[in-house]
Amino acid sequence: MASGPRGFGVKRLLREAQELQKPTELYFAQPLEENLFEWHFTIRGPPDSDFTGGIYHGRIIFPAEYPMKPPTVILLTPNGRFELHKRICLSISGFHPESWQPSWSIRTALLALVGFMPTDGTGAVGSLSYPPEERQKLAQESANWRCDTCNCVMKDVLLPLGSSETEDKDVAEARELASQLNLTEPAKKATSSEPAAVAASNVENLSHLNQRTSTSVHSAVSQPADHPNTTSLASFVRIALIISLLVVLIAIVLRRVLS
Ligand SMILES: [Zn+2]
Repeated sequence: MASGPRGFGVKRLLREAQELQKPTELYFAQPLEENLFEWHFTIRGPPDSDFTGGIYHGRIIFPAEYPMKPPTVILLTPNGRFELHKRICLSISGFHPESWQPSWSIRTALLALVGFMPTDGTGAVGSLSYPPEERQKLAQESANWRCDTCNCVMKDVLLPLGSSETEDKDVAEARELASQLNLTEPAKKATSSEPAAVAASNVENLSHLNQRTSTSVHSAVSQPADHPNTTSLASFVRIALIISLLVVLIAIVLRRVLS
């Protein structure tokens, strides 16, 4: 089991959990005890924005194919920038909307989310355009917001500001990432709403992935299984071509025979 694609994801997620074990000033994320493929995260609103002072919590759901496919992010704390309980994907802007680099990590996704907060999200998936004063009010209120699953209150989760030197670097990286990435609707397959359902669809996805990864991991990267219908469409076109060729051949033969 451990050598299958899901085993690959498990290994990767365990490694990331290890790397992210300690909260930073800007972000913290850890898997749920009962499900390695769902994490809860906390991010700090970026400085010099309507989200300054805000601390926001959410869920990250990983597909069985992670890191080949992107995680989905769901915001839980009212913030005025992202819709609550709505699945959001991150992808590189200017490319195929579903593109995601396996070298990216949970840290990348969290920093990108921080970087997105002060950007204008008009029209983008999962975006809200609350007025600044409403966002500032929500930012202040977020400190006392509690997650019933993690049993944590926002103001206690992150390292206090000014306790390390990495914050400025992280904020700069967050800005940089937000300029390169897009928010997108998650692929259809990953839209089941509960972790149990996700786990079930993960299992269902495994057979797909087994076929792909048995040839090579690289091909799974360059041709991600974002469109499970592509292969069936290709074979349909092939069959249609063969049938039309046969019809033409039969017509030619019939004409010869009849004349
Ligand atoms: Zn939580």
